[in-house]
Formats: sequence, C-alpha cells, structure tokens
Amino acid sequence: MNGAPVTHAYQALVVGAGGAGLWAALELARKGVKTAVLTKLYPSRSHTGAAQGGICAALGNHEEDHWEWHMFDTVKGGDYLVDQDAAEVLAKEAIETVIELEHMGLPFNRTPDGKIDQRRFGGHTRNYGEAPVRRSCFAADRTGHMILQTLYQQCIKHGVRFFDEYHVVDLLIEGGLTRGAVAYRIADGELHVFRSAAVLLATGGYGRVYRITSNAHALTGDGMALAYRRGVPLEDMEFFQFHPTGIVGLGILLSEAARGEGGYLRNADGERFMERYAPTLMELAPRDVISRSMYLEIRQGRGIDGGDFVHLDLTHLGREVIDRKLPDITEFVRVYQGIEPITEQVPVQPTAHYAMGGVPTDLHARVVVDERNTVLPGLFAAGECACVSVHGANRLGTNSLIDILVFGRRAGLEMARYVEGNELPDVPLTAHHRVEDELELLRTRRRGENPNVIRAELQSAMFDECGVFRTKKGLQHVARLIEHLKLRYCQARVEDGGKVFNTDLLDAWEVGYLLDCAEATVAGALARTESRGGHFREDYPERDDTNWLKHTLTYQAEGRPFLRSKPVTITRFQPKPRTY
Ligand SMILES: Cc1cc2nc3c(=O)[nH]c(=O)nc-3n(C[C@H](O)[C@H](O)[C@H](O)COP(=O)(O)OP(=O)(O)OC[C@H]3O[C@@H](n4cnc5c(N)ncnc54)[C@H](O)[C@@H]3O)c2cc1C
Repeated sequence: MNGAPVTHAYQALVVGAGGAGLWAALELARKGVKTAVLTKLYPSRSHTGAAQGGICAALGNHEEDHWEWHMFDTVKGGDYLVDQDAAEVLAKEAIETVIELEHMGLPFNRTPDGKIDQRRFGGHTRNYGEAPVRRSCFAADRTGHMILQTLYQQCIKHGVRFFDEYHVVDLLIEGGLTRGAVAYRIADGELHVFRSAAVLLATGGYGRVYRITSNAHALTGDGMALAYRRGVPLEDMEFFQFHPTGIVGLGILLSEAARGEGGYLRNADGERFMERYAPTLMELAPRDVISRSMYLEIRQGRGIDGGDFVHLDLTHLGREVIDRKLPDITEFVRVYQGIEPITEQVPVQPTAHYAMGGVPTDLHARVVVDERNTVLPGLFAAGECACVSVHGANRLGTNSLIDILVFGRRAGLEMARYVEGNELPDVPLTAHHRVEDELELLRTRRRGENPNVIRAELQSAMFDECGVFRTKKGLQHVARLIEHLKLRYCQARVEDGGKVFNTDLLDAWEVGYLLDCAEATVAGALARTESRGGHFREDYPERDDTNWLKHTLTYQAEGRPFLRSKPVTITRFQPKPRTY
C-alpha cells in the first residue's frame, strides 16, 4: 500500500555532509539559497572526519613550491589519465582554499615562525619530480576531523537546514530534469519526498565493497549507485586505490604521514625494499607503486615471518616527533596491535582505500552523461563519489581533502547560479512508489537469505580478484558471481520487520548499492586490457596509451553493465613513462 509521503521543497538539496557537501551548503547559504542537507549519518561522523594525514596546497612555507609542480605531480601520479584542465583548477584553487580554512579558524600545526606547517607526502615533488617537497598542511594526524568541525560550525552559523539520519534512497529525475530526491527517515521508517531544482551528490566512496578496507561502515557508494540506476554512467570505476599501510587483518589506516615524517618500509630481511622499485622517492612513491611492491616482496618470500605483510619502521623518528605529529595513528597501533611504535616495528599490509572513479562531472560539478559531456540539468556531484577527473588512475595522498573542498565549493556556486534561473520542478504524487515498494518487499519478506552472507561473499571475491592484482580469469569469475549475487539479493530477507531505527533494513539496502558499484568496477577492469595506476592486469602488465588513454563510462541497462569511453583532456603535460 502506498501512502502519501511527507513532502518538502528546497531550492537546493545537498546529499551528504562530508567536506564536499558541507562546503557546497556553505556557499549556497552565503548566497541566500534555501538549502537542505540530507545525511544518513550525523554530519560530524562523515568519513572526512577520519582523514588523518593532511591537505595539500603549494604554499611553499618551507621551500620553493608552485601550483604547476602540484599539477604536474597530480597528472603523473594519476598515470596520465587525469583531465588536466581539472588538475589545473585543483592545484591553483588549493592555495586559496587552505587559506580560507585557516581564516575560518582551522587549527593547523605551525612552523616556528607561525606559518602553516607542511610535510612530505607520496608523489608530491619539487621541480617536476626532482625530490620530495613539503606540500601537505595538517593538524597533527586529525586534519579531516578539524576540517569537518570547522565547516559544520560555519554551516550552522549561516543557517543551513540539516536533516540528520535521513537516508536518500532514490533520485527524482524525469523528462531529462532533476526534480529532487526521496529519503527514508531512519527514526521511524517514514519516506520523505524533497522537491528541488538542484541536487548535489556528495555521498563519499564505496570502500566497503572490499573485505579489508580503511573505509567506515557507511561507505557503500550510495550516490554512485542511485545515479547509475537512473541512467547516469559511472566513470573509471576500475581504478580503486589500495593504501600501503593498513593494520594487518583489520585494514585500519596508518596514515602516509608516517612515511611523510620519515618512516621506512622493511621486508623480512630488514631491507628498505623500495630502493628496488622507486630509487628516487623510495617510501614516498605513489601508493599504487608501493602497494604492488609490497606484494611483490611478499610473493618472493620476503614477507615478515613468511606472512602477507611487511614492517613500517618509525623507531628512528623519536618520541617527540611521534607525539607531536602522529599521535592518533601511533595510539591505534598500541590499542589494536599491542605494539609500541616508538621502539618496535609495525606490521602493515595494503588496505582498500579510495575510489578514483565515480559520477562524471565537468569543472563546475555538473553531472555529465556521455562522451560529449552533455549535462544532466540540475544534478551535481562532488567529493569522492564524483569523477571530475583530478585523480585519473591513482590519487596522490592529501589530494582528496583538497579535491572535495575545491569542487564542493564550485558545486555550491554553480548550484546557486542554476537555481536562480530555474523554477522548483513538479514532482508526480507517485514519485516515491517504486522505491517504497522495493523497501517494503525487503522489510516484509519472511523467507530468504541473510544479505550479510551476500555482502561477505562479494567483499571477499572483490578483494581476492579485483584488488591490487587482476587477471581476466579472476575478473570473469567475480563478474559471474556478482550476477548471481544480484539474483540472490532479490530474494534476501532482513531479520527486523519493524520501522523504528531499522538499521538491519538499511544495511541490507546498502548491499544493493555495493553490488551495483562492484558490477561497474569489474566491468571496467575486465575491459581495460592494460595496466595503469591502481588498475594492474597481470596478463597485460604494460600501460597502453595507443588503445587505452581514455576514460571508461559504464552504464546500466536492463540490469547489466555496458561500456563506452571518452577522451582524456591533455593540456600541458604529454604522457611519459612513469618512474619515481
Ligand atoms: C581513514 C581515512 C584517512 C584518510 N586520510 C586522508 C588524508 O589525510 N588526506 C586526504 O586528502 N584524504 C584522506 N582520505 C580520503 C578522504 O578523507 C575522503 O576521500 C573524503 O573525506 C571524502 O569526502 P566526501 O565529502 O566526498 O564524503 P564523506 O566525508 O565520506 O561523507 C559522505 C557523506 O554522505 C552521506 N551519505 C552517504 N550516503 C547517503 C545516503 N544514501 N543518504 C544520505 N546521506 C548519505 C554520509 O552521511 C556523509 O555525511 C582518507 C580516507 C580515510 C578512509
């Protein structure tokens, strides 16, 4: 039975209250646009708050630096799949963005003469690759936490309306126009229809598609899947980053800041093995290079005690540096591993970390739906759920926090322009029926499989066969498994049949998002018969610019993926072999 939903009308809707969503909302509010932020978590619990190491900008507070060098590092780090016009925007606007954060009151660490302190991070270099440069600004190893608190305060100050614990379950797109979104209120299971001319997806990543991940429980690719189901393609999903230093078995992140501050990686023989793979940058090579190198060491029998991990060695840094610059992550090591990092080496292994792909957008965060960059009016995306594409095939550390803020701000400004010229669209009274029926079926089905089993099978297969190393055979296997899991998912049932705080239902619902994101990831990975950045095919180990210097667009039609492609924008830097 479909009842009448509660309806709301706002000029602009922001889905997600991480860094991207909050900065967009702040710009909208400053322009006087009536804005609502819908978020399934309390804003301060968004994953942005877990970011540790830093946010980069070529401030040059310690040594000479330029936005062109930052742009170059981003393009090379992304294995030349980066759209260079976007990387230029990122590197230039990074500087004013960090300074504005400072003016909002963010408590950055300071140099002795009072400037924002900066540290080294992988792939960020001086003079086009010569040597590491200090480009990452930080507040100890709690940078994201500080960003989130600072932006949330600003939003409250400017009167942004928050709908906390509203889980968006569908986008309203009809007649080629965005009309709003449908949200499920977690407290009582009530559906709410939000009419709006402009909707921003800022829902973050989908690392929960992997068994071992640094990503929080809520990172299930919601915005990507919702757009994909409504005919929007997903771009470059085959590029997923594995961060080299996760806590063994748990995946909890030990920030790259540990290596930025001088930490070493050692194999069972005590060797700093990165010497073999990246003689110039060593432990500060990009993450894709280091994660692969770690596995190569392990495969050749040089994992610690014959196991599938290596050591992160901080023992030479000294207590003072560790306590002042890396307090949180070293505490994780003590709590989760029972190890004292000041005197002992820390076992680490790669952990699924970051989605380079996502909902395709132009430089103004407008969602585009084909290879000609045709805009879907009223739909916007920014942050980790979007692909603009500044990270190409592999993101550099500290480039995400700056990406979400630079493009979150651009989204807010563009949405403000858009709503000025566009009326609030009509929404049919039946708009929410489709998703209501699906949710009701899932909630009330009395026989069927537990969706947790489906999620666990998906996560294991993705980690084993669509992780750091990939082959045609493994990918075909996981593609078939996903098809099968999708059928099983249609018959799944949840334990809790109630409406009040039914997190069981929402956990199950999120498995549906993960299946869609996995499907697009594997389809892209199977098609791309080359190795580039975070996508490494053992059967095609070389980069192939002749055939594959292009973005993948994956569409869903009749429940199955199909692929198209679009060209990469190259402005300043021609592709070259990538050595470090
Ligand atoms: C442990 C860790 C450490 C990191 N460290 C760094 C670092 O030092 N530097 C760096 O640059 N990057 C770092 N990153 C990456 C970076 O933090 C993220 O890419 C970035 O914060 C993503 O921000 P976002 O605004 O896109 O989304 P998030 O901060 O993930 O927020 C997503 C928001 O969307 C909402 N949402 C999701 N689905 C729905 C739905 N269906 N309905 C309603 N709301 C929804 C959530 O409630 C949340 O508010 C790190 C990531 C992790 C996991």
